[in-house]
Amino acid sequence: MNEFESTARSLVDAGRELYALGMVPATSGNLSARLGDDEIAITVSGAHKGKLDTNQIMRVDLNGASLDGRRPSAETLLHTGIYHRYPEVGVVLHPHSVNATVLSRLCGDWLVLQDYEILKAFPGIETHACTVNIPVFDNDQEIARLAAKVDACLADLDRAAGYLIRGHGFYTWGESMNDALRHVEAFEFLFDCEMQIRGKRQ
Ligand SMILES: [Zn+2]
Repeated sequence: MNEFESTARSLVDAGRELYALGMVPATSGNLSARLGDDEIAITVSGAHKGKLDTNQIMRVDLNGASLDGRRPSAETLLHTGIYHRYPEVGVVLHPHSVNATVLSRLCGDWLVLQDYEILKAFPGIETHACTVNIPVFDNDQEIARLAAKVDACLADLDRAAGYLIRGHGFYTWGESMNDALRHVEAFEFLFDCEMQIRGKRQ
């Protein structure tokens, strides 16, 4: 198996896992992984993430341009932005969970996470006694404009493991697939806690 095939296989497996958790319903969401220095592998537009096949994983360059003639997801620039900003990141995952969708409508421009033991799932956090500010961006069908806003915000954050898009979902990433999946789980747990605190239990 070459690097593309093994990377595509890891994205297919992650899609099934996230679909089973209800995070990528009705062809929503997208998943990507870095391939070498200047390419990424990403799910094609419109694919059902629970029934992915490796031929639904395509290659794009770091500017989001297709390298194999197929149409990438509309949100590809949100993935490439993360790979540009964080050279150590190897995987970017974008779920559309109910908690992320609803919670992002209930908070302002930041979700403040404080004094949660599970924050230690994120890199560089060794104690619950900290505050993590998660940016919340208004949804925008003009992805280049949204990607520019996201990047300007991330540039000012010391460390960031993810962000929310209002009424839409969230983005998170990690050095490896296991790291990125752990961040999805940790965020979803935290979103659930915050929903319950707000009395909006799902
Ligand atoms: Zn999306």
